[in-house]
Amino acid sequence: MTHNTDLTVDVPAYDKDIDAFDLAPAGGWNALFVDGEWVSAGDRDTIDIVNPATQDSIGAVPAGTEAGVDEAYAAAEAAQSEWAARPPQARAEIVENARHLLDDYHDELIELFAVECGGIRLKGEIELDLVRNMMRMSEGLPFQLNGGHKAATIPGKESLIRREPLGVVGAITPWNFPLHLSMRVVAPALALGNAVVLKPAEETSLLGGLVFARLFEEAGLPDGLLNVVTGHGAEVGDYMSRHSTPGLISFTGSTEVGRQVGQNAVGQFTYPSLELGGNNAHIVTDDADLDRAVDGGVFGSFTHQGQECISINRHLVHESLYDEYVDRLAARAEELPVGDPSAEETIVGPVIKPEQRDKIVDFIEDSLAAGATLEAGGGHDGLFVEPTVLSDATNDMPAACNEHFGPVAPVIPFETDEEAVAMANDTEHGLSGSVHSTDLQRAKDIAEALDTGMVHINDQSLNDEAHTPFGGVNASGLGRYNGEWIMDELTQTKWISIQREPRDYPY
Ligand code: NAD
Repeated sequence: MTHNTDLTVDVPAYDKDIDAFDLAPAGGWNALFVDGEWVSAGDRDTIDIVNPATQDSIGAVPAGTEAGVDEAYAAAEAAQSEWAARPPQARAEIVENARHLLDDYHDELIELFAVECGGIRLKGEIELDLVRNMMRMSEGLPFQLNGGHKAATIPGKESLIRREPLGVVGAITPWNFPLHLSMRVVAPALALGNAVVLKPAEETSLLGGLVFARLFEEAGLPDGLLNVVTGHGAEVGDYMSRHSTPGLISFTGSTEVGRQVGQNAVGQFTYPSLELGGNNAHIVTDDADLDRAVDGGVFGSFTHQGQECISINRHLVHESLYDEYVDRLAARAEELPVGDPSAEETIVGPVIKPEQRDKIVDFIEDSLAAGATLEAGGGHDGLFVEPTVLSDATNDMPAACNEHFGPVAPVIPFETDEEAVAMANDTEHGLSGSVHSTDLQRAKDIAEALDTGMVHINDQSLNDEAHTPFGGVNASGLGRYNGEWIMDELTQTKWISIQREPRDYPY
């Protein structure tokens, strides 16, 4: 592997104490949150919180254990039924209180997005907006727990359908949009009367986990309903998914781990809800508005360094527009300021960790070795990877056939719409995608032919709204988040029949 070094990024050392933030618990962040108590790490192993921009440690959290998971699930189980019996407005009010606290702690949260996650200020604001909308949507859910009344085939019988909370929900979440991807489970689960055990990714134990404990504690959530166990995935996460207590395991992360988590959950007759990787195509037909297609292509490929399951992974462009699209995309990529995520002007910050950087750099270099042409970027410094555009790419090159999860845009030419659809679908994944055409019927035909859970016409693949169904097909997962779809997943239906008149049995 020959790493390019033609990018230089200087980031000042981070000299603040994150344990002294107003948002931090009184004893600092190095604690688990179980049954309403902050349990400090003591002599337990810890996990460093690493600032991706400098690669310096800025704090630590406990490496949780199986015993911690047992205690968290027991606390959740004990607290849940009393919570579910509360009136809808009481549960909605707690989520609303927590939502208002996002504004009180806004500046510290934006700072944490930069120093824990490598997220620029704009990414922090986008994520906070997603989270606010998720909470607003969740505040309405307790009022929508409707049942039904069915006609009965048996004379004198009344048939009632009730919808009830599942009980306890286990959530295992990733590092890329930690606050949002944890909130999309925590807020609806609590609002619907469930209790939650949350395990954030090791890299973002605060924004994906311990921050939730602080927000909901201050919002007035009763003890035991939200428990946060930080720790290693292979230990805490695996044990959580093999536990008999939860009614649902909500997992967001890699397809490889998701497959195992799903099998563990089913082995316990626990529903698996899996949101996994993607390999999303941005299709640009010969009658597309090129300005709009390029604008979307830039945003969809380079936002948060391309580290989203719904990022554009491949650009499929009609051969008649190909050269101009590549030139414009490369020019735009070269203009994007790479640097300290805390700085106002930065658009591209660091990727999350050295392993991700190495994978991304390998995908770029292996694609170049396979015949791609470097049109922009290609360099890296520390965890900063330059926005990179590759032309002469083919669908089987490493940067195209793998989910690269980086600021990389391989551009692949096509001749016919059928060929574009076939290439877009030639992946085990099926999460999101986008199509550009000025002929909306044609765009819709392509959108319908794409084997994905989500497609966006004359836009790009990065879209997530709290009230629209979010999820994938094939190796991109099982189930849907948001709106009534997450309500279905976080509740169960129960049939209660009442035999009002004596029944005429056959014997
Ligand atoms: P990962 O799947 O390893 O981690 C996601 C979560 O699962 C984390 O909380 C982690 O601690 C936990 N985990 C890890 N191993 C586990 C196990 N054996 N049992 C239970 N839980 C476990 O993902 P990653 O290493 O952070 O990233 C690897 C790849 O995952 C990325 O390159 C990308 O392709 C994909 N990814 C996808 C998303 C998404 O939103 N779909 C987010 C992050 C990463």
